Amino acid sequence: MGFLLFGLVLVAFMVLAFYRASITSWVLATVVFVPLIAMQSRISDAVLQFILLSLLFFILIFSIPYLRRELVSRLALKLFRKILPPVSQTEQEALDAGTVWWDGELFSGNPHWSKLLKLPKPFLTKEEQFFLDHEVEELCALINDWEVTHVNQDLSPKTWQFIKEKGFFGMIIPKEYGGLQFSAQAHSAVVSKIASRSGTAAVTVMVPNSLGPAELLLHYGTQAQKDKYLRRLAKGEEIPCFALTGPFAGSDAGAIPDVGVVCRGQFNDQANVLGVRVTWEKRYITLAPIATLLGLAFKLYDPEKLLSEEVARGITLALIPTDTPGVNTGRRHFPLNSAFLNGPTTGKDVFIPMEYIIGGEERIGQGWRMLMECLAAGRSISLPASATGGSKIAARTSGAYGRVRKQFHMPIGKFEGVEEALARIAGNLYVMDAARVLTAQAIDLGEKPSVISAIVKYHCTERGRSVINDAMDVHGGKGICMGPDNYLARFYQQTPIGITVEGANILTRSLIIFGQGAVRAHPYVLKEIKAAHDEDKKRAVFDFDEALFGHISFAMCNAVRSFVFALTGGWLITALTSKPTKHYYQLLTRYSASFAIATDVAMLTLGGALKRREKLSARLGDVLSQLYLCSAALKKFEDDGRPETDLPLLNWAMEDGLYRIQMALDGVLQNLPNRSAALLLRVLIFPLGQCRRPPSDQIGHDVANLLSTPSAARDRLTSGIYLSKDENDAVGALEASLSSTLLCEFMQTDLAKAHKSGVIKSLDELSQIAEAAELGLVNAKQAQQLERDYKLRRKVIMVDDFSAEELKASQA
Ligand SMILES: Cc1cc2nc3c(=O)[nH]c(=O)nc-3n(C[C@H](O)[C@H](O)[C@H](O)COP(=O)(O)OP(=O)(O)OC[C@H]3O[C@@H](n4cnc5c(N)ncnc54)[C@H](O)[C@@H]3O)c2cc1C
Repeated sequence: MGFLLFGLVLVAFMVLAFYRASITSWVLATVVFVPLIAMQSRISDAVLQFILLSLLFFILIFSIPYLRRELVSRLALKLFRKILPPVSQTEQEALDAGTVWWDGELFSGNPHWSKLLKLPKPFLTKEEQFFLDHEVEELCALINDWEVTHVNQDLSPKTWQFIKEKGFFGMIIPKEYGGLQFSAQAHSAVVSKIASRSGTAAVTVMVPNSLGPAELLLHYGTQAQKDKYLRRLAKGEEIPCFALTGPFAGSDAGAIPDVGVVCRGQFNDQANVLGVRVTWEKRYITLAPIATLLGLAFKLYDPEKLLSEEVARGITLALIPTDTPGVNTGRRHFPLNSAFLNGPTTGKDVFIPMEYIIGGEERIGQGWRMLMECLAAGRSISLPASATGGSKIAARTSGAYGRVRKQFHMPIGKFEGVEEALARIAGNLYVMDAARVLTAQAIDLGEKPSVISAIVKYHCTERGRSVINDAMDVHGGKGICMGPDNYLARFYQQTPIGITVEGANILTRSLIIFGQGAVRAHPYVLKEIKAAHDEDKKRAVFDFDEALFGHISFAMCNAVRSFVFALTGGWLITALTSKPTKHYYQLLTRYSASFAIATDVAMLTLGGALKRREKLSARLGDVLSQLYLCSAALKKFEDDGRPETDLPLLNWAMEDGLYRIQMALDGVLQNLPNRSAALLLRVLIFPLGQCRRPPSDQIGHDVANLLSTPSAARDRLTSGIYLSKDENDAVGALEASLSSTLLCEFMQTDLAKAHKSGVIKSLDELSQIAEAAELGLVNAKQAQQLERDYKLRRKVIMVDDFSAEELKASQA
């Protein structure tokens, strides 16, 4: 009986928690069950009376909001204020920036999949598609990346002219200012396609369209500033750059030592002009060497109080024409054999009038907030697009090379070891492209998803690094020897650039994704923090009470959901779709609940210290990231029309993502300092142990096969890249060679047999083909096909070589 009652009570409380019952329901359940248990336990009358009195006290406190607020929430708020880590103004502005989107659902422990699935399939307008098929195609055809990166260390004058004239610098500028006014989806597609041809060109195009003068002017510029610059920027008549980073402020960009002092000075012919004397030392600034318009971040001081009583006014942004006396630009850095223009800029006591400040006087001191607000859009598009474009060409060529290149009488892609690398390449690419497209769609919906932008920037560049590493291995020496016929080496060399810029990756993973996500996307934490900072004491307690009890019910709900879903393998969760994707949605819901409870327990047990425990924070961020990437993969599969042929890719992506979620959660549990909390979490998250495994060998085999064989699925995976049709071009030759290999393979097998049996006596391949034609083993057309196949294969296999003089000359 005792056991039965205990079981009944447990189930009742679990049901209440699962459905997030109201406080009244909890109180009612307590009123029923506590006396029952007490009586069952045959305790003395005195103890029973004590229990009943405590119960009465408990009911009074929790069912009367006023008492609850005064006796519980006020005290809890005091404690919360103590453990709340100090947040600097720059951190606060970063936290406040942007919007919460699908990340909020993933944090909720119960993502509403209908919200994701009812988003329309992303599309490009006719005009955008036309631009991709014509202007971008033409630009790619113009570029010879070897000439760019090795011979000239710059794009050719013709390419520069084309980029400017065709409006590539004005993709985000509205038509009323002469820009292209493209959607984020189109912007991403353009950068991605260019990146499949040349990293240098991609960076050159993406920087003016990312966080910089145009974007800042659009959001914060005065009308006069917009009128003056936007049209010229759209047409490439002004070349912009934006300078934030300096030698002493890299990742911690809020700490810039560059200063501007408000004063009166001489400007042009006018004396006594109110302005700012600015001194700066910046480095790593893309396009700075040729920029005509320098966007500059500095800290503004007003010691003479010419503007207001406040002396230190904070980070301020200005647009300075580079021909202003005292502005130094022109020198170049040399970023990893890339030829995009990047360099330092300095200035000492450069006088600028107030009208150079972006947004004018009223925007003084708001620079950091402006940058943070604009960061999400650029970070969501540029680097995910360029990493994906580069990875697409690496994937397509690796698949083809694996089929064309033979060793031990077999295409190398058929060997299981190479298959593993090919599977990782294709699987990672599927996820990257899905995340790229979904995130661009969020921007087009008007979101500024700060946390998601960090996720997609980090994971696209990291997976891009994995793709290019695998692609290099698949290509062997062909990937290593540099020259015009090497289509991989520059991507390989330039990969760390994407890893470093727009928030270096280690910092992004360990500090930003979860650090910002836990505050921004968690349904209650931000409300609790806001209440803790509220000066109005009465309102603070009121709001905190609401958030705290909401949070408690949220945590209990997720604890029970995580446990129940783990016990049942997620199979009982209702899902919107049918097989073959249904169970993936169920599993993601299961892990979303586990993530939510793990987050709450980590925050509860570590408090403000969690910010410094970057390894734990990073692992929790990994769970959130994988939940997002898996969501994107599922959405892509739906948008593509659920093609059965793409299932190997989806299966690889999901099995890999789910396995990574499991391992990241396990890492949290193994390292959480509070071991009792870790044990409790392990029971709630893995009551039956860990059962997820990485993608199976069979899935890997199917994915590798898909990448090496021409098909609609392969074309979909690598869609949107530039593919030369010229057989003299290295990639063009490889494309042609793959088709030719498949066409000629059966004839080559016959010829090999004829040679082995002594019918064909010649020793080299071309002579054997001629002999076979003479003997009538192949007809004239077939002989031609075989000869062409040999020549294409040779072109694909060969690498460039140089005379000693040629190499010396290029070094000079
Ligand atoms: C090619 C190139 C182009 C660029 N273009 C521009 C531009 O146009 N304009 C501009 O303003 N800036 C630009 N940058 C700067 C860039 O965006 C980065 O902000 C900057 O490079 C980071 O600073 P740093 O290189 O000095 O690295 P550091 O800040 O010294 O960081 C070194 C390492 O420490 C890690 N790290 C630092 N702090 C933490 C932390 N708290 N937790 C965990 N890890 C941490 C970082 O992740 C990194 O791995 C560019 C940089 C490069 C290399």
